[in-house]
Amino acid sequence: MDFQFNEDQREFRALLREFVDREIIPVARDWEHSGRYPTEIVDGMREMGLFGITIPEEYGGLDLDPVSFALVFEEIARGWMGIAGILGSHSLACRMIAMRGTEEQKRKYLPDLAAGVRRTGIGLTEPDAGTDLQGIRTTARLDGDHYVVNGTKTWITNARYADPLPVLVKTDPTTTPAHKGMSILLVESSLDGYEVTKDLPKLGYKGTESCEIVLDNVRVPKENLLGGVEGKGLQHALSALEWGRVNIAARSVGIAQRAHDEAFAYAKQRKAFKQPISDFQAIQLKLGNLSTQIQAARLMAYWAADAVRAGRADGATGMAKIFCSEVALEASIDAMKIHGGYGYSTEYEVERLYRDAILMSIGEGTNDILRTVVAKSVLSGETVVR
Ligand SMILES: Cc1cc2nc3c(=O)[nH]c(=O)nc-3n(C[C@H](O)[C@H](O)[C@H](O)COP(=O)(O)OP(=O)(O)OC[C@H]3O[C@@H](n4cnc5c(N)ncnc54)[C@H](O)[C@@H]3O)c2cc1C
Repeated sequence: MDFQFNEDQREFRALLREFVDREIIPVARDWEHSGRYPTEIVDGMREMGLFGITIPEEYGGLDLDPVSFALVFEEIARGWMGIAGILGSHSLACRMIAMRGTEEQKRKYLPDLAAGVRRTGIGLTEPDAGTDLQGIRTTARLDGDHYVVNGTKTWITNARYADPLPVLVKTDPTTTPAHKGMSILLVESSLDGYEVTKDLPKLGYKGTESCEIVLDNVRVPKENLLGGVEGKGLQHALSALEWGRVNIAARSVGIAQRAHDEAFAYAKQRKAFKQPISDFQAIQLKLGNLSTQIQAARLMAYWAADAVRAGRADGATGMAKIFCSEVALEASIDAMKIHGGYGYSTEYEVERLYRDAILMSIGEGTNDILRTVVAKSVLSGETVVR
């Protein structure tokens, strides 16, 4: 087995690290606490072409391999996980349009999305349906050349910038199973009846907004039906979520790495009983555990990314997302403990890591639901563990 990055990946990671160290880490704590939108960081990511990481070169994107894609999220989350959120659902939606859109849809949207002139997100969740996406209530009724869309989406990341927003709808609410009547529409935000109604208050994941969107008789042109065929919406969404799980696994590694770095730095400089606390075995047990768990999580994230390169990989991406997100949470808690009382202070970085880490076990499929996905994948023989 070859665990080495190729030359391009090494150079790309060095570039990302330098960007994160220079542009994100120095401002993350202040901007996160003040709720300031990170406009300058978005500009920097735009200049680096990061809004086009999942877009083919012919439409102006970087078309990264999945391991390099993972590196983007790992490195940015090391600086500030909320910033990774700005790129996350944008990249998944772009990939979904690139893989599933009609040629006309790709030509219309992808070049601007790659340049970051347009941005996007993904509108699946509703107030009464998250895990159970077949239970959504948003409908799209065909009326001449348009779909008339009605419903409410919630927790939508990047909602205030997304244009178009891919929205999961029921084009036929009567089918059994329900997914056969589900489709994705690319909804432009300037349409009448499309309104971002509120920003949801949240524990962490600041820097990017999470909003409720109401669609009230929004008339969406028929040509904005993703792929041009009804009934494929859930499949489109699920295929995007696979890369999403790699993205979350990688973000988790980034959070964990930062917790690790902060914990080691603090343990070396903090003195108790006239010696650095890193001399105490109780602290070393935590430090050793941090290093071990993070390296295991990192390998798993890259392994899952590599599996995606080879095709559908629900089992591998599910396992990586579960494991890495749980390592991130544990690492952030241990880093707080090593910081003693200062770990609880908003003047230090580690409390943010803790607030951000917990989301990693919820987004892109909760860890519990993913455990069932992994089990089914192994039971069916699609994933082989040996
Ligand atoms: C900050 C943030 C950003 C988000 N961004 C987006 C976004 O950009 N776009 C978007 O569409 N969504 C987004 N989401 C929504 C997210 O994907 C959902 O919250 C998640 O899928 C869980 O859905 P739910 O909240 O409705 O929980 P529920 O589905 O109600 O689940 C509640 C609990 O029940 C468990 N559960 C449910 N069904 C089962 C089952 N069959 N077996 C066992 N356990 C089960 C779950 O694991 C969970 O513990 C975001 C959420 C947050 C918090």
